[in-house]
Amino acid sequence: MAKMKPSDPAYWMLFDEFTSTPNPDVYRDYCYICRDPEYAQMGLPLCYACEACGGHVAVDDSVCDDCGADQQELWYQRKAKEAPGTSDK
Ligand SMILES: [Zn+2]
Ligand SMILES: [Zn+2]
Repeated sequence: MAKMKPSDPAYWMLFDEFTSTPNPDVYRDYCYICRDPEYAQMGLPLCYACEACGGHVAVDDSVCDDCGADQQELWYQRKAKEAPGTSDK
């Protein structure tokens, strides 16, 4: 049973919104990660839903297959909006 170490480059994916629960909404037949149940069984990060359109984003990529949005960019934009000091409270 291999446990992911904090030094692993993909370790951060275990946190935040990344989970190993297969998401039927983002399943794609052509995607080898979606099609391989071992990814979920081993607790590896799976493909996730695009923040812009809810489409498929392969976990080894950051660009949505459906609309081409870069998830990293969207993530940074969201974090920038959530950052303290910029809220309009
Ligand atoms: Zn996939
Ligand atoms: Zn998208």
